[in-house]
Amino acid sequence: MEKFDVVIIGSGPGGYVCAIRCAQLGMKTAIIEKYPTLGGTCLNVGCIPSKAWLDSSELYFKMQHEFDAHGIMIKDANLDVKQMSARVANVVKQNVDGIAFLMKKNKITVYTGLGSFVNANTINIKGEKEDEQIEANNIVIATGSKPSGLHGVTIDKERVITSTEALKLTEVPKNLVVIGGGIIGMEMGSVFARLGTKVSVVEYMDSIIPTMDRGLGKELQRSLRKLNIDFYLKHKVTGVTRKGKKVTVNAEPKDGGKPIAIEGDYCLLAIGRVPYTEGLGLEKVGITLDEKGRVPVNEHLQTSVANIYAIGDVIKGAMLAHKAEEEGVALAEMLAGQKPHINYNLIPSVVYTWPEVAGIGATEEMLKEQKIEYKTGSFPFRALGRARASMDMDGFIKILADKTTDEILGVQMIGPRVADLAAEAVVAMEFRASAEDIARMSHAHPTYSEAFKEACLAATDNRALSM
Ligand code: FAD
Ligand code: NAD
Repeated sequence: MEKFDVVIIGSGPGGYVCAIRCAQLGMKTAIIEKYPTLGGTCLNVGCIPSKAWLDSSELYFKMQHEFDAHGIMIKDANLDVKQMSARVANVVKQNVDGIAFLMKKNKITVYTGLGSFVNANTINIKGEKEDEQIEANNIVIATGSKPSGLHGVTIDKERVITSTEALKLTEVPKNLVVIGGGIIGMEMGSVFARLGTKVSVVEYMDSIIPTMDRGLGKELQRSLRKLNIDFYLKHKVTGVTRKGKKVTVNAEPKDGGKPIAIEGDYCLLAIGRVPYTEGLGLEKVGITLDEKGRVPVNEHLQTSVANIYAIGDVIKGAMLAHKAEEEGVALAEMLAGQKPHINYNLIPSVVYTWPEVAGIGATEEMLKEQKIEYKTGSFPFRALGRARASMDMDGFIKILADKTTDEILGVQMIGPRVADLAAEAVVAMEFRASAEDIARMSHAHPTYSEAFKEACLAATDNRALSM
């Protein structure tokens, strides 16, 4: 039986990054993936294809609604969804092939098949034709997550779908009903609304993207109205029925009132994701899941069994690719005897709609709840020269700083390319910068990053300039 220092089950951004770091640190490493391609949810049916659809649909939307203002007149432009979908598939292929190359380059053994525990040091790999067993000193569970189901909703994967199927559609729905106004709902809802679909969103809470700073959800909803999206907030879905090519989503107002029925040709269920541990055989090693189905770990990412660890979506915390990656690297370094640290407070949350949304550190709601005295500084993109030049004027940057020390505690942003500006917030906060520190640093003109500096100026002593 082949023996390894580390065996990782699952090849998403948690697993493959952990494998590479283990190999770099001199460990004999293997990775097991049940699907034929590596990269997990993120590369195959998550981050990468969704961003590819977002970019294509944004170009189409701009062509239809903004090019004429730039003096670019296009006649007889057509939408070829099959080509759009084929480009997305090609982007995915380039990325998953890239991971396979990295595994080879780092001499990591790749097994294709379902990994399950035989005991705390032995894993069975159920391949297409036969089973194989391997041994390891340390085992990492990086099996990720899958879409949540909802009582009363049967996901038939044809008309009642999850993000996985939505990312592979080769037609533009006429009417799409999205259950859940969270990140997937807003990103995929934007994709189809830009391509001409009438999108309706049913959200249980009183705001879209409700886990982010409330100011952001309000501004995003205002912006997305331009895509003609209908929002049914504070509505609880009671069931979905399908008749042929039609689906009907039934919902009732959370606080009482008249039930509604929304018809569509597709229904996208996007109410969150749940950890995935099916078929892992955790019972064989005595690991029990927590109340949310997650694998419990301590601060060293170690499970209740000393040589078994877990990272990424399958454990507590944000279900984000960059969080999984940080854990993958930190775990490999801990196994090599190093003492890495992850600052979970500074894992950015980003929504890749247009305008983009990004939140780093505390929200206003958190600071209020924790009774921390803070001050705010905001700057609207409409006052920025760069934003006017590109006609992307929706949104703002809001800095939350400690009232006494001026240390930046949170950066909440909505606007053009704020996903990329999130990095400036992380750097500033990791080095515990004050708002004045940033306000005194030169930011290239004209760039979107000037809005960051201006918001810091506003937080310092209301000194923002208007351009
Ligand atoms: P996964 O990526 O889920 O990988 C787990 C892997 O383990 C899978 O390949 C699975 O097949 C495999 N596996 C499971 N069980 C076994 C087993 N027993 N044996 C062998 N293999 C097994 N995050 C971001 O940060 N940014 C984004 O823009 C973003 N966009 C997203 C868009 C969508 C539509 C979705 C659904 C998610 C998105 N996410 C995004 C979330 C991101 O994809 C996840 O947080 C990330 O993939 C988690 O990584 P992971 O390594 O923990 O697990
Ligand atoms: P989400 O948690 O972002 O949003 C789910 C939404 O559904 C919430 O607003 C919630 O209030 C609502 N909801 C829950 N139950 C409901 C019900 N019965 N009826 C109506 N609304 C209901 O989850 P998601 O959008 O499914 O995405 C899953 C996860 O995938 C995200 O939390 C995130 O971690 C990850 N993801 C990240 C990105 C990114 O980083 N850009 C993109 C997509 C997905």
